[in-house]
Amino acid sequence: MPASVVEDFGNGRSGLEGARLLAGGTAGPSVLRPLIAEVLDSLAEGAGERCGPLPRGGPSAVARRVRALVPDALPESGTGPVPALRTLVRLLAEGAADPADPLCAAHLHCPPLAVAVAADLAASALNPSMDSWDQAPAASELEAVTCAALAGLVYGPGGAADALMTTGGTESNQLGVLLSRERHGPGVRVVCGENAHHSVRRAAWLLGLAAPLTVPAPRGVLNPGALARALEAAGARPSEPGRYLVVATAGTTDAGDLDPLPAIATVARRYGAQLHVDAAYGGPLLFSDLLRERLAGVEQADSVTLDLHKLGWQPVAAGLFAVPDGAALRPLDHRADYLNAGDDSEAGIPDLLGRSLRTTRRPDVLKTAVTLRALGRRGMADLVERTCAAAECLADLVAADPEFELRSLPTLSTVVFRPAGAGDGTVAGIRRGLLTEGSAVLGRASLDGRLWLKATLLNPHVQPSDLSALLKLVRDAAGTHGTGQPHDTGWWEGPAPR
Ligand SMILES: *Cc1c(COP(=O)(O)O)cnc(C)c1O
Repeated sequence: MPASVVEDFGNGRSGLEGARLLAGGTAGPSVLRPLIAEVLDSLAEGAGERCGPLPRGGPSAVARRVRALVPDALPESGTGPVPALRTLVRLLAEGAADPADPLCAAHLHCPPLAVAVAADLAASALNPSMDSWDQAPAASELEAVTCAALAGLVYGPGGAADALMTTGGTESNQLGVLLSRERHGPGVRVVCGENAHHSVRRAAWLLGLAAPLTVPAPRGVLNPGALARALEAAGARPSEPGRYLVVATAGTTDAGDLDPLPAIATVARRYGAQLHVDAAYGGPLLFSDLLRERLAGVEQADSVTLDLHKLGWQPVAAGLFAVPDGAALRPLDHRADYLNAGDDSEAGIPDLLGRSLRTTRRPDVLKTAVTLRALGRRGMADLVERTCAAAECLADLVAADPEFELRSLPTLSTVVFRPAGAGDGTVAGIRRGLLTEGSAVLGRASLDGRLWLKATLLNPHVQPSDLSALLKLVRDAAGTHGTGQPHDTGWWEGPAPR
């Protein structure tokens, strides 16, 4: 299709013209090019308008801005593609929490790598659906080899280990609990530390199991002695294996702490319990020769959760669920004649339905496979190491400043701290004040009976000067906390998109 035709279509006033443009086929790329150029310009303009990690003015200002520009989300007639992209992409970029900003450090919300985002565009354009081979011929094979390689990172290369791609830690933890229930029946009881992710409890609830037996974790990690006592008291016996599923965490959401995996694996074995390790956050340390030792013991788990949309710099979603032997995934097999007819499977057509609980499924593998090929294991290791080093740098800055209290040295990339002598109300107010100003995004964590500020660093390129600037913002906010209302900065009155 000549570019001029594409441009006419793209800029056309009528939404009907936009409806004629498809992303695929040999013409797809030339149709996409001007649209993507518009997206990129709008991203740049939106980020420029925002000028910080978060839009100013808090939820009401953001809501006013969105509602002003989107008075009718389902208009009778469309604007055509280019104006729609311009208005809404710019609106979203202007009103985004930008994890690439060094002062955006609240959550396990990573700045995605450009190469992964570019690959994700191809995934959308080609739109393979991972529920049957005839919708995703090459994508399904790429998924198989990539999953095997990542499972090998956890369990050692060359074995029977396999992994499934998931939407993230929540789905992976659910799969861990589900496989345990399928192996041992609905009487299986989850046993986890108080520090476990909320999705573990939810998985038990969703799957109709008893609420998890929760072991206190006063120091933020699951203590093997306390775990053994809990299993003993619950009547766990090696002679009756499989009645308990121990869930350990490698990288807690609050503090980035690592449960002592080798000792926990030993206790689980002694009591005939299975072990699932939730390494959603800490798992990518396995890329690094320097840091992988901290995850020793993970290979003893019956299943492992790992997220690459945290310390893996993938756009959402990029989760993995790994097992030491792919045969363990068999309970997920499922038949639907329109997707995996028995005679098709016998004729050698790969059967994908058992590789997920979902049916239609995005080829999230493409961005990850491209990233791994582009950076290699060493490139991934470098990013992980830089990020952990940034956390150490921030912890040093906090520890050296008498105005702050550091909770503990970071294990991964989370730094938990508070202004010395501040009450919990002040800590909460500082965080909300910074959010409302749009100047910094920090998290909060209730630990040791107190409220703390939490910086979850996931930007591998953050500089010490950024970290000093972050602490200065907190110091200034601590000084002024309680003196005024969050000010309305008029962010929403900014210039309207073209
Ligand atoms: C983030 C996280 C999860 C949940 O993962 P999602 O990708 O958000 O579904 C589970 N466990 C831990 C330890 C996490 O950090």
